[in-house]
Amino acid sequence: MSEQNLPQILAIDDSELIHRLLRLRLRNERFQLHFASSSKEGLRMAQEIKPDVILLDVDMPEMDGFELIGHLKDNPETQSIAVIFVSAGANDPANRVRGLDLGAIDFIAKPFEVVELKARLRSALRLQHLVRILAQKAQIDGLSALWNRTYFNQRLTAEFAEATRHNKPLSLVLADLDGFKATNDKFGHLVGDLVIERFASILQSGRASDIACRFGGDEFAIILPQTTLTEAIEVTERYRNQLAGTTWPERPGLVVTASFGVCDLESIDQPPTQKKFFDGADRAMYLAKQHGRNQVQVFLPSALPQ
Ligand code: GH3
Ligand code: MG
Repeated sequence: MSEQNLPQILAIDDSELIHRLLRLRLRNERFQLHFASSSKEGLRMAQEIKPDVILLDVDMPEMDGFELIGHLKDNPETQSIAVIFVSAGANDPANRVRGLDLGAIDFIAKPFEVVELKARLRSALRLQHLVRILAQKAQIDGLSALWNRTYFNQRLTAEFAEATRHNKPLSLVLADLDGFKATNDKFGHLVGDLVIERFASILQSGRASDIACRFGGDEFAIILPQTTLTEAIEVTERYRNQLAGTTWPERPGLVVTASFGVCDLESIDQPPTQKKFFDGADRAMYLAKQHGRNQVQVFLPSALPQ
């Protein structure tokens, strides 16, 4: 495992002695250690490194550990970092209660037993891993394993902001299976589910930076960062062709197609808004349905209702 992949631990403590002790006693552990000697430096490093766990001293000049954890928990970028307080005041239940209520996951007394500290670090890392898996699961669609609608909304907001701020290309594709209700009725829901899974794997076969999502039911969306309209049409045509050309050994005679709508940032009215962008792709998809399905339509400004 490279150093980059090792769990990152940040110790924030104004005592050089503690730094030396940790460095010495944890050097054979599979952690990468970082040290901050003041609360301000610790806060800055927490934002920069985004460690898995912070070992946080309570008594520090300038800003104590209780105040520091408040800043960590207020910032979405640092709020999920596991914090373990390390304090000489750990024997006072009021301190422990205060620390845990502020969001710390553990409280260790100083001076500490290194074996116990290591065990608590390992336990914090296990918990952190599970929390991450749960958070990711909440953003993944169970059937298709694509990102779900919640994630789609978040990413669209982020990518739209990034592209408009830096004037970068951005495209959006919406797709909807054609006559999928009839497919379900004729071949059964299990085959319908299989179709969704296959289509999902096609939509996932593009660039690693593309964000393929299941929007709901038989509707899908792909956010294509750094992608111009011409490039987006090209990949969408490829997906359309792949789906239409798929043979289904389990169900001979089954043909599945989808309709696609493509929109890029350049094509929407000034000032660009996320709603106009999404509506553009939606309108193009609707046109693809209207014009006979199994096709890719592009949003053109003239397609807006007058
Ligand atoms: P159109 O070409 O106009 O899109 O026709 P359509 O029949 O596909 O119409 P519509 O998009 O309204 O129908 C979606 C169908 O998708 C309805 C529902 O039965 C089916 N569906 C939605 N989610 C699932 C799923 O998870 N599994 C299966 N098997 N079917 C689903
Ligand atoms: Mg449909």
